[in-house]
Amino acid sequence: MAEMARILCTPEQQVFHPESKARCPLAEMSVIGDVEKAWTAIQETGKKIIPVVYVNSNADLKAFCGKNEGLVCTSSNAKKVMEYVLSKNAIPFFFPDENLGRNIAHTMGITDNEMFLWDPHEANEGRNKESMRKARVFLWRGFCIVHTVFSPSDVQNIRKQNIGIKVIVHPECIPGVVDISDLAGSTSFIKNAVEKSEPGSKWAIGTEICFVNRIKAENPNKLVVPLKESGCREMAKVTLEKLLDILEGLIEGKAPYRVVVDEAHIEYARLALKRMLEIG
Ligand code: SF4
Repeated sequence: MAEMARILCTPEQQVFHPESKARCPLAEMSVIGDVEKAWTAIQETGKKIIPVVYVNSNADLKAFCGKNEGLVCTSSNAKKVMEYVLSKNAIPFFFPDENLGRNIAHTMGITDNEMFLWDPHEANEGRNKESMRKARVFLWRGFCIVHTVFSPSDVQNIRKQNIGIKVIVHPECIPGVVDISDLAGSTSFIKNAVEKSEPGSKWAIGTEICFVNRIKAENPNKLVVPLKESGCREMAKVTLEKLLDILEGLIEGKAPYRVVVDEAHIEYARLALKRMLEIG
């Protein structure tokens, strides 16, 4: 995300991060060499493929998409982006979050049999000529460690404990959870749904615990509980104290943790982001 700010800002602007050691484990599940290998194999199907990279990814993957007529997506616009690809008579190659890709494809009527999962850790990456030939979507074996903690039994249990509670989850959760929840969507979707609900409504939220706690604090006239407590240890590394350190450092003329993106990636990564912003 910090890299994305660097990609979008002007050369005169600078981007700083409060904690240089914070990483997104999901982003690290796809590396450029493996993605290029998959790309070559997928193209051998002879189909027109457009790569789509989730925003939680490294800059070189965004640049890869920019170079290959592809684009970036967020959890808010992933469906629009997938629809855009299909409107070009092309097949999306979606990475690195399998669950987001699969859940979105389901909402578009695409079945699991019509999706091919590229697994960089499987022997021969799970290649199967017949499945690849009939695939309408190519996915990547990657997942968010925070959202895959939720299970269908968590949904069933919370409903038993709180009659009338609505379950709303993030689409990085596994399809088995998304399918039986009342609603699924991005963090802004979740925030809006709770905010617009009637006073006294009851919500169980399946996403990162700090976000759930924030929604709970902002909606004191509703019952808001986590579907299960699941926190991101990497996001937790970024604290207000560290943000203050950065700001004080800048006042003192220090420039700690400046975010740098390889110049070779900036132009193409920006192109992939621009295509996404044009779609909305
Ligand atoms: S919650 Fe943590 S692991 Fe999951 S996408 Fe966000 S930063 Fe990555």
